[in-house]
Amino acid sequence: MLAPKVEQLFGNREQAEYYTIVTLGSHSALQILKGAKDEGFRTLAVANRQTERLYRSYGFVDEVLAIERYEDFPRHMQSLEHRKAVIVPHGSFVAYLSLEDHKKMTIPYFGNKAVLDWEASRELQRQWLSAAGLNLPRQFKTGAEIDRPVIVKLYGANGGKGYMFVRDAHDFEERAGLLARRNYIIQEYIIGVPLYIHYFYSPLTGRLEIMSMDRRYETNVDSLGRIPAAAQEGLDLEPSYVVVGNQSLSLRESMLAEAYRMGEDVVRVSKDICGPKGLFGAFCIETIITPDTQFYVMEISARIVAGTNLFINGSPYSYLNYDEPMSTGRRIARELKNALLSNSLRLVLDDSGVL
Ligand code: ATP
Repeated sequence: MLAPKVEQLFGNREQAEYYTIVTLGSHSALQILKGAKDEGFRTLAVANRQTERLYRSYGFVDEVLAIERYEDFPRHMQSLEHRKAVIVPHGSFVAYLSLEDHKKMTIPYFGNKAVLDWEASRELQRQWLSAAGLNLPRQFKTGAEIDRPVIVKLYGANGGKGYMFVRDAHDFEERAGLLARRNYIIQEYIIGVPLYIHYFYSPLTGRLEIMSMDRRYETNVDSLGRIPAAAQEGLDLEPSYVVVGNQSLSLRESMLAEAYRMGEDVVRVSKDICGPKGLFGAFCIETIITPDTQFYVMEISARIVAGTNLFINGSPYSYLNYDEPMSTGRRIARELKNALLSNSLRLVLDDSGVL
């Protein structure tokens, strides 16, 4: 059966207060729901037994739907179908629900699900980013080709867990046993500063905004510099990339134009590959900046990332565009509100579930 059209679900030009913004209680849910409330929406957090009390404790969360496990969310979706709910996805959504579950969601969804396929496959992602003229770390097909330090990334690795720094081809050979029968990629190791740039692209205005930036704080790789290299010798230290948190960072202004250009070109190319709507809403380009101030791109996340949680009260960059605290979560709600007021909801919701 075809799902109803956006207009049938929502009617026309109605006020934000009749709509409920829904998200899973994790990742950047507090930011999303606070932003939604600030923009006048009703808010609902889907929580589990462990997180229920936390989400209920915030005044800006109107309702909590407690379920046993987040993975079960698709089974509970029916209870939201009869109301004017919009799902705002975040990083953990993709982690808890499979790509297929994600696509099958019938509740109106902020974002373009067609981007998910391009994002989920490292190969397709690479095609997309290089078509946008971004510098990518070199990739090596086999250990024998390695001619510089590399990072070996196991498939399904999460938050840097399961990444391995390998010095050269010989080092790789010695550790080949650990990688037997595993899927992985071998990528040039870029030495520089990791900078994660948070963008928002508005399909309503066609304008890209830089919302904020962060630098990851990772253990133990960010601590190795605290031990002199000479003292590290013989300690058998292995760098790991497990994220502990995020730090705020403002970029040298002379590098800002390139950061903006990268975002624009990623959006432009997405319109060729993921259908005419392309990538819209919040996204993040994860870079490493080398001493010659080149950005190398590790990855793109096609939705709100956890680093934006540093800026629930706005960032120096969002302040340039708004004279009020504007988090990425609030910016999403503002876009939905502007879409409602201009009868353009179909521009900001995924087509597949609702059209
Ligand atoms: P998440 O999904 O949370 O973004 P992830 O598992 O996708 O995490 P990445 O963000 O790709 O992991 O990488 C984690 C960390 O590994 C980076 O922040 C960076 O420190 C390091 N890293 C990844 N790729 C490279 C590279 N090519 N050169 C140097 N360091 C890298």
